[in-house]
Amino acid sequence: MNPRPINQLPASLVNRIAAGEVIERPASVVKELVENAIDAGATQIRVEIEDGGTTLIRVTDNGHGIPPGDLGLAFAPHATSKLQTDEDLFNILTMGFRGEALASIGSVSHSRILSRVSSDDAAYEIFNRGGAISDPQAAPGNIGTTIEVRNLFFNVPARRKFLKGQATEYGHIAEMLQRLALPHPEVGFTLMHNNRSTMNLPVVADPVERLLSAWPDEFHEQRLPLEARDAEIWVRGVIGLPELARPVAKYQYLYLNGRPIRDKYIQHAIREAYRGLTEPGRHPAAILLLTVPPTDVDVNVHPTKFEVRFKDSGRIHGLVLSSIRERLLGSDLTPNATLRADAPAAERMDMQEKLAAFFKQMPPVMSTGNLQDSGFGIQGSGIQSETSTRFDSAPPILSPQSSALSPNPTPEPRALTAISAIQLHNSYLVAESDDGLVIIDQHALHERIMFEELLARLTRGPLESQRLLIPHVIEASARQIEMAGQIQALLMKLGIEVTEFGPTSLAVQAFPSFLERLEPGEFIRELLEKGEQELLDLHEEELLHEVLDMMACKAAIKAGDPLTPQEIEALLARRDLVERSSNCPHGRPTTLRLSLRDLEKQFKRTGF
Ligand code: ADP
Ligand code: MG
Repeated sequence: MNPRPINQLPASLVNRIAAGEVIERPASVVKELVENAIDAGATQIRVEIEDGGTTLIRVTDNGHGIPPGDLGLAFAPHATSKLQTDEDLFNILTMGFRGEALASIGSVSHSRILSRVSSDDAAYEIFNRGGAISDPQAAPGNIGTTIEVRNLFFNVPARRKFLKGQATEYGHIAEMLQRLALPHPEVGFTLMHNNRSTMNLPVVADPVERLLSAWPDEFHEQRLPLEARDAEIWVRGVIGLPELARPVAKYQYLYLNGRPIRDKYIQHAIREAYRGLTEPGRHPAAILLLTVPPTDVDVNVHPTKFEVRFKDSGRIHGLVLSSIRERLLGSDLTPNATLRADAPAAERMDMQEKLAAFFKQMPPVMSTGNLQDSGFGIQGSGIQSETSTRFDSAPPILSPQSSALSPNPTPEPRALTAISAIQLHNSYLVAESDDGLVIIDQHALHERIMFEELLARLTRGPLESQRLLIPHVIEASARQIEMAGQIQALLMKLGIEVTEFGPTSLAVQAFPSFLERLEPGEFIRELLEKGEQELLDLHEEELLHEVLDMMACKAAIKAGDPLTPQEIEALLARRDLVERSSNCPHGRPTTLRLSLRDLEKQFKRTGF
């Protein structure tokens, strides 16, 4: 086969190819035009669309305008006023910089720019009909810029066909405009669809007020403002109480230096901060504005600039995680509760600190290679055998002596109002509270208490463990044996010793004293099965959570277990000593609250 000649593509085709990347649908045009208006310093931006943007998109701003001499260049590819020197690429503070948007849009539509700078008496207009650009002409117009885009994709039938109905395209536009508007309270935005006003976001002095415009009104009571910074990174925004988390990430918005972004590290940090407070798979409501030095981030990794690359994503992850977690821990998260004043800082044991302390003591996790070499021996592992006397008493968790299990709180426990509670259906506790009554799920609460107490215990050393007289042997797959080796160090901290026992089995040699009601082999089997099905995250901190969850869940009293009055009292007393007692480690609430006001309302006693 003969080679075909290489052609230099004509500009019109180059632009159309670029448009394929940047302009997916009418909302993409709105994004580019509104970003340009923001970059131009506008304080009022009006977006008018017809037929979901397919026949007309018009964006009008009161920004600095485009000088008539530059109008032709505005439609030229790779033409921008936002990079003046090469170095500017590494110091980007504007939304745009690629100089591609208007050229792309012009190549796939009938477009017009009308613009006037303040030093001129007249405005000038220029047309671009699918790549054919007119000369600028004087025309009447205000200071600022209007860009009209008609008949989008008139020459790209494939794209045109791919567009959804008007209502859907309108929906994308409204969402895009909302997203762009959130970090700019200093700019007013309006949206008109088919001559009807559909969105109006006036200029506001309080940035939080603008952020909240993205959430339904009923969310507003359940929000917490957030602000944290380290030497270089600044995180601001609002986060929602755990109960606002939803199966889709609809109420989550992330910004970097004013630019909307998607970032899986930051999303992960948010999820982690809410771990144990929301059900798994739910997305917390959070709007975060991150400000970092432009030199610490590469925004030039994606044509639509939705994705960015951080120089140090770990640091951002850490700051987001710790600031949200701190905010949540300092707040009363009981559903339906009105927010109480924060507990004094000293009363709270910081989860972050506890975890940090725990990992400082942890021996490095052994690699699989070591496991094979060492024959998986962990003799002299430091696990205390039968040293524990404190944990021996049978159901230790609720007996008064079990205070040894509690985190030995350095802080003084909050004074408890004398609480009387009754157990209903052997599953629920109903107790009087300061301002009404609470209904407690006994299993969920006990599980949470156990979890927090175990975590606190771990900061002081390995859990007390009991060497088993006869090892419990379980069948295990090669993958499970390998995994047992990988998590060996962590298991040892938890008082669990597992060794290889022939090519297809494992032996549990030691097990935590307080889990004595459980069958050790079963517990390990379940853990490794979860790991094999990749339900476990083998990252240290997360794995620790998972195993503690499992322990707490299994050791906790169950629904259906009758409790003595002393046991009820012990359980309630410890409720106030642990963090996050409002939710069990799986994120379900432990406690529901009914205030006297609610009751009066329900019984229609208001007014008496
Ligand atoms: P970029 O925004 O990446 O620079 P665009 O193709 O979006 O590229 O715009 C090209 C240039 O046109 C911009 O750099 C800017 O100088 C000018 N421009 C576009 N829209 C506006 C506007 N609304 N107001 C003022 N200048 C604008
Ligand atoms: Mg632009």
